[in-house]
Amino acid sequence: MADTHDIANNSPVSTLRGVGPSVEQKLHKLGIKTVQDLVENIPRSFDDYSRLVDISKVRPGKVTLKAKIHNVSSRYSKNGLPIVEAIARDGTGQLHLTWFSQPYIKNTIKPDSDYYISGEFAKNYKYFSIVNPKIELVSSFPKHTARLVPNYRLTKGLSAAVLRKIIATALERTVIQETLPDWIIEKLSLMPRGEALKAVHFPDDVHMFESAKERLAFEELFVIMLASELNRKDFAAQNSYRHKIKEQKLKEFTESLPFTLTADQKIAAWKLLNMTTQDVPMNSLLQGDVGSGKTVVALMCAYNCVENGAQAALMAPTELLASQHFETCKKLLPASIMSKTILLTGSLSPKDKKSYQERIKKGDVAFVIGTHALVQDSVTFTSLELAIVDEQHRFGVEQRKALQNKADRMPHVLHMSATPIPRSIALTLYGELDVVTIGSKPSNRLPVKTTIVSSDHRREFYSNKLVEIVEKGEQVFIVAPLISDSEKSDSKYSVEKVSAELGRWAPNANCKVIHGKMSQEEKDKIMLEMKQGKVDILVATTVIEVGIDIPNATMMVIENADSFGLAQLHQLRGRVGRGEKQGYCVLLSTSKEANQRLKALESETSGFKLSEYDLELRGPGAIYGSMQHGALDLRIAKISDTKLIETTRDMAKQFIETQEELLKYPVLDERVSSIRAITNLN
Ligand code: ADP
Ligand code: MG
Repeated sequence: MADTHDIANNSPVSTLRGVGPSVEQKLHKLGIKTVQDLVENIPRSFDDYSRLVDISKVRPGKVTLKAKIHNVSSRYSKNGLPIVEAIARDGTGQLHLTWFSQPYIKNTIKPDSDYYISGEFAKNYKYFSIVNPKIELVSSFPKHTARLVPNYRLTKGLSAAVLRKIIATALERTVIQETLPDWIIEKLSLMPRGEALKAVHFPDDVHMFESAKERLAFEELFVIMLASELNRKDFAAQNSYRHKIKEQKLKEFTESLPFTLTADQKIAAWKLLNMTTQDVPMNSLLQGDVGSGKTVVALMCAYNCVENGAQAALMAPTELLASQHFETCKKLLPASIMSKTILLTGSLSPKDKKSYQERIKKGDVAFVIGTHALVQDSVTFTSLELAIVDEQHRFGVEQRKALQNKADRMPHVLHMSATPIPRSIALTLYGELDVVTIGSKPSNRLPVKTTIVSSDHRREFYSNKLVEIVEKGEQVFIVAPLISDSEKSDSKYSVEKVSAELGRWAPNANCKVIHGKMSQEEKDKIMLEMKQGKVDILVATTVIEVGIDIPNATMMVIENADSFGLAQLHQLRGRVGRGEKQGYCVLLSTSKEANQRLKALESETSGFKLSEYDLELRGPGAIYGSMQHGALDLRIAKISDTKLIETTRDMAKQFIETQEELLKYPVLDERVSSIRAITNLN
């Protein structure tokens, strides 16, 4: 045909034959705007109609015939349902075909033509027939019959048949350019892009589909890896501040601590400090389980920075966490630096704020701890050389960027996160960061004793065990999945309901609630009361702070524990047992099967292991979903495929030196740029 291959990849879907305004609107609903979106919308599953059989040999099950269709008649059933009936004949025999509620079928059937007829051959009512078969004139490229037939995610008013037709048209009529460098295709024996896109929709067999999918998965990850590689290079190309490691000072500091650093803490600190001795700015992520002692490691970096005559800043997501860090500093930092350390938050009086800002500007202040109040325009540093971001995933790119921009040159940047994530996700999400991990916890910590309590014993548990803890003067957290009962009509517990029950079961306890519908001030106020020991039992949704440190809180109770991921449960559990007292975690569960999964928590104490486990059992949504990184959602590749992710990263590193190299690969270039628009901090 003269008009083949005349549609560009990025043309709107409406340029395709068969896509009018109504179909277009439905495609948009599925997130399909361009021809490229369309061909990359890969099938969710296939129906295997690839085996052709003679009618004489038909057995019950999925079949495809090549036959003529005769004796087409239509009628209505007793309850008014239109029925079309016909007979298929192929020379070896004949059988019945029946269509319900598709009266239009009758007029489309051509009496002397050969059809592919695919469907389920089964006994319906009295005799064997194929009910609602798919039929298609015999051709060299059947789409709905006689092959592995693709099924897609659909929306109301858009049928799989229509979508298949449009996709086939798009594949025929678009120029599909190769997007990847030849040497990579050769090295990894990848399917060329054009072939892969056809094969992913209309494969000859399952192997072909798998190879096609692998090629597309590689490409999807490759783009992400290129973006982070370029981000990394951009970052590294900046001039930073060469610091000296003040060994003597650091030694004095660590010796003055009320505890001995763990080996992991020492190694982590050493790695991070070393990164600050280069011209290239440090850009690292310090990860460690809740309670692993990241703060003191960050403080060593801050201390060393200050001893180098520069300023350091630590930004935390809430006032409470910021002031907790400030309190920690008071306990741990030597007076010489504490006298130059301030807490800058939104709740300061205007007068104090002003005087603090002036001191920062003059360089009287060396270490600033605060919330996002730190990055307001009115705050000017004289020599910010280290920016520390706690719970980094809770800040947007803009806020992190704003903090970096407070420095003249690129400062060293240290991100901290207590969300343990599997390696494959770390590589994908944080490809440009150097990840430093604290893998163990201080040994003075007793592991939290975790038990699963079936909901049959719920009441008994509350009125005995829980009350006992409160009577000992220790504090309890209870987490419930909902705020109020009216929220959803399912059987989950709500904060309101649990706190009402506690009124009866633990009448002497001072019980408070906290949840996401309250303002940050209200939440901070209640958390502070909890921290000060004024509250015995805090009933909460999962909003309770990750980093909060309340050594006297010894019990964490989780309602409907089966509705949470393991990693999240582990995080919640990490809020107790932070002191020397024995901590307890009680998982209330209603389902026997889920208990199997929850059992992992009884024996496993590593957040990293649990998150790997979650990834395997429940998929990335359990971990990835909560990380506000929607733009990096994978459509084809599997985030659990660590091997492919590692290969892709290697290839990206080998391929890319500068963004210019991408000019030869316009599709890659465009995609890489759109990811970098939201991930590049430079
Ligand atoms: P996280 O990694 O969750 O931020 P923190 O830094 O808040 O953990 O540390 C949790 C608690 O453990 C703090 O009270 C801290 O002072 C204490 N801590 C840190 N390192 C050690 C250690 N090596 N030995 C004993 N306690 C420690
Ligand atoms: Mg912390």
